[in-house]
This record gives sequence, structure tokens and C-alpha cells, in this order.
Amino acid sequence: METIQEQEAKYIINTYNRRPEQNLLLVKGEGCRVWDEAGREYLDFVSGLAVNILGHCHPAVVEAVRDQAALLIHTSNLYYTEPQVTLARMLVERTMPGRVFFANSGAEANEAAIKLARKCDPRRYKIISAHRSFHGRTLATITATGQPKYRQGFEPLPEGFSYAVFNDLDSFEELVDAETAAIMVEPVQGEGGVHAASAAFLRGLRELCDRAGILLIFDEVQCGMGRTGKLWAFEHCGAAPDILTAAKGLGGGLPIGVMLAGEKAAGAFKPGDHASTFGGNPVVCRAALAVLGVLLREPFLAQVEEKGRFWKEGLQRLGRLFPDLAGEVRGLGLISALELKAPLAAGAQRRCQAGGLLVNAIGETTLRFLPPLVVTAEQLEKGLAILQQSLEGLQG
Ligand SMILES: *Cc1c(COP(=O)(O)O)cnc(C)c1O
Repeated sequence: METIQEQEAKYIINTYNRRPEQNLLLVKGEGCRVWDEAGREYLDFVSGLAVNILGHCHPAVVEAVRDQAALLIHTSNLYYTEPQVTLARMLVERTMPGRVFFANSGAEANEAAIKLARKCDPRRYKIISAHRSFHGRTLATITATGQPKYRQGFEPLPEGFSYAVFNDLDSFEELVDAETAAIMVEPVQGEGGVHAASAAFLRGLRELCDRAGILLIFDEVQCGMGRTGKLWAFEHCGAAPDILTAAKGLGGGLPIGVMLAGEKAAGAFKPGDHASTFGGNPVVCRAALAVLGVLLREPFLAQVEEKGRFWKEGLQRLGRLFPDLAGEVRGLGLISALELKAPLAAGAQRRCQAGGLLVNAIGETTLRFLPPLVVTAEQLEKGLAILQQSLEGLQG
């Protein structure tokens, strides 16, 4: 019998570069911990890339999925289902007046936002996004993504996309013209290395969009759902978008994407303009309702903020312990990054894993941390201890 690794190489298209050193075969998860096939336990600070925000197999999510799966798994959007409508109402009531469209992923939520922005005003079709951004892997969303490596080889790309400098309001203003439909940014850039927008920048974008009569789209696929200590990262700055997209953590591990549009924009989509077969599936929506129920029960989000501070202080302490190795600490709440002063991120990730901690290397110099929001102070301390050992090892 071939190993799983051999079968994977033989039967799955090689898009993920699962390097030999990270070739874990995971079989079980509970809370912030996962186990591999050999029974080894890991502290999971990757969280399925910001997806398992309540950790693995949270009882509220498991119960909701189990109940709904036994009742009604799928209907298509030809019919009404109660969980879909309840989730939409909860999202709108907790976020901003408007209406939602349900999809199955972050890219699809952003694709819907781009289509809606174009539909709002037929003369306006251009989208301005930020360098270093990430918005997904469909043709339109790789084009909105401000990193050339995701676009190379897929030309010709859709027209009308341009890129400005994150946190530089003037550079956005310079690109706005009579054909601009929207500005699209992540309040905290995730894949780009965890860079938070300043409150002044986001408020400036809000004013710019109001003045120019264009839409402001916040992509909170990664930084939303409580990760920064508020339900949405934009709540830190006091400027609301016209369109908000979310995905990753919302389904507690099940695939979901959502676009929430303010009433004016939402009305631009008419029956037949957009659709998704699975979008708003009752099982997924019940899972999301369970997630929101936990997140919105006080003092859950306040605790996320507190844990984020504790973790960041820990990273800064490591920075002082390893001044030649560890540099800038970035982030907000429980989305954070440690910048290394040498191209050692993959090595650090490998050493952490060997020590029982899963973290994520972005590029050559950045370590990203996305622990489940239910992480305990004790687990954060354990994570810091393993990270410290890894840095000691790297220092040689
Ligand atoms: C991950 C991500 C996406 C894409 O989400 P998928 O579910 O992988 O399609 C879009 N935007 C941001 C900010 C992301 O982090």
C-alpha cells in the first residue's frame, strides 16, 4: 500500500507545495490541539488559516452541524430555509443596515462584491486595491490582489484594476477617476504579512469614497469574525464600508462566504444577476450561527483583545532576547506576525512543529500566528516557550 504522501502526489494536482518537513497527517482535533497519525499532539496556531476560530470541534459547532445534518442538509436557493435567513438577520443587525449574499469562500464573496460594484453604476467599472493585498484566486480576485506572483501566467486578466499603497491615502486618491467603481482593502492585510491599516487611513478612504461617490469595500475574510478583538476589524476605526466581505472563520470550519452590502448597493443586484448553488446551505448557516452565538456572548471578544496583548508582549520579549534574529512584531488581537531579520521563517516553522507548535511562515522572513480565539493564557505561554526554543535553535 502506498503512503498517503505517495497517493497525494499521484492523485492530487500539486498546487499546495506541502513540503516534506510539514507533511503532517492530521487525524483529530480538540480545542487548540491537533493530533497526527502517530498520536503526537500539536498546539495549533494556524487554525486552518484563520478558519477554526473556536478551535477544533467546538461542541456548539458540532451540535449545530449534527442536528441540522439529521434534519435537512441542502435545498438549493429555489426554496427558503430558516437558518439562512436567521444568519443574514444576525449579521446585518450586528454589523450595519443592509442585506447579504451567501457564497462558499472568501474569493467568491469578493467576486460578488466586485460584480455588485460594477452593477451599481454602468459607467463605473474600475476597482482600486492595495499593493501586498490578497483577495482570492478567481480571475477577478487575483486581479484585485496586489501581488504580481498570483497573476503571472493567467493573462489576459479582467480590465479595470489598479493598485495603490496601503496606508497612503494620497496614492488612492490619485487613482480615482470618473470610471472608478470602488476601493477595496483589507483592514488588516493577512496573506501580505499582517499589516494593519491605520484608523486615519480607513477614515480617509471613507471620506474619499463619499466625496467621489464610489463604494468602499472592506475584505474582512481573514481579519473579521472577532480575530482582532472586535467582531469586525473596521470597528476599531469608526469608518464603516459600503460592502463587507467575510468567510474563513465564519463557518467554524465549514465553507462559507458572505457579502454584506449597504441598502443602496444591495439594490443593484436583481433576480438572476448572481447566484450560488451551495450558498447559504442550512448546515453551514447553522454552524455560523453557533459560531456567532459564542463570539457575541460577553466577555468573549474583550478576552480576545486581552489575549492578543499578552501574546504581543510575549513576542516583543522574544525580540529583546534575540535581537539579531527577531525584529518587528505586528498585529491586532489574535492576528499577528513576527518579522525575522534573516530568511529563516521556514526553518523557524519547522523547529516549532518539531517542538509541538504549528505556526505559518509567509515568505522568507515572516512568521504568522492565528491561534483559535478560545486559546488560553496557558496555551499562549506554552506557544511562546516553544517559539523561544526554536529561535534558540536557529541562533545555533
Ligand atoms: C483567504 C483570503 C481570501 C480568499 O478566501 P478563500 O476562501 O480562500 O477563497 C480573500 N481575502 C482575504 C483577505 C483572505 O485572507
